[in-house]
Amino acid sequence: METKINRIAIMCIDARMNQVADRMNDGKTVFVRTAAGNPPGVSTTLETLISKYPITQITYIPHTDCGACKFTHSLLKNKGNSTQEIEHNLVSTMRSYAKGNYSNICGSPEDLELKLKELGTEFILKKFPALKLETRLEDTSTPVTGQKTLVLLRPSERKYSEICNSLNIPEGSTYISQHYNLSEAICDAQLSISALHITKLIVGITENEERSKIEDEVAILGDSIRPITMGTDVNILIEELQTAQERTRLY
Ligand SMILES: [Zn+2]
Repeated sequence: METKINRIAIMCIDARMNQVADRMNDGKTVFVRTAAGNPPGVSTTLETLISKYPITQITYIPHTDCGACKFTHSLLKNKGNSTQEIEHNLVSTMRSYAKGNYSNICGSPEDLELKLKELGTEFILKKFPALKLETRLEDTSTPVTGQKTLVLLRPSERKYSEICNSLNIPEGSTYISQHYNLSEAICDAQLSISALHITKLIVGITENEERSKIEDEVAILGDSIRPITMGTDVNILIEELQTAQERTRLY
């Protein structure tokens, strides 16, 4: 298959990053969206993309006022636990760096955002030294309003305005998670539902086995992550978004 894709962009699932991504969408960039934009958490997905496309560059854009960073800060400060997936794909990056001294290193979620940016940059440089790296912290201080939806997808070069249009959901309150790895996708679903007040989840991953595992994980959230405040009224809608030409409206 011929492809023009040569760059990976890594960003948080946060709805405010949709427009940031669309502004830099040049048709040659594949977007990976993950909680807090944490590069070590998407290691498997990055490896998959690099084996699939002739990637020469990574653009890594963490952001301010990040809900996933606030969650991680609160968890580490209070020495709490979460799920296996959230721990592995998000919290462990900072936990292993802090070695039990988290409060001495980060006094606020903003400190954590900066530290994660530093750790994420180091991770990319070490793991993919041949690739050009560009990174910056995006200022997203205006809060997200309205009913929040999370859409789980594979990484793609598609514009979020088009994805949200096709689903008939507002881009400004739609969180997007894009992975090739099930554990990474489940982490984002669990975190979004339990800590980011998502009320609707749209699974746009076509493989039946992965879809049913995600549904199972969401269904047992109440038992598996008791310490985290739970969202309510979670609707699960399944749509095969990857067959882009045949997209249908969900409602
Ligand atoms: Zn975020």
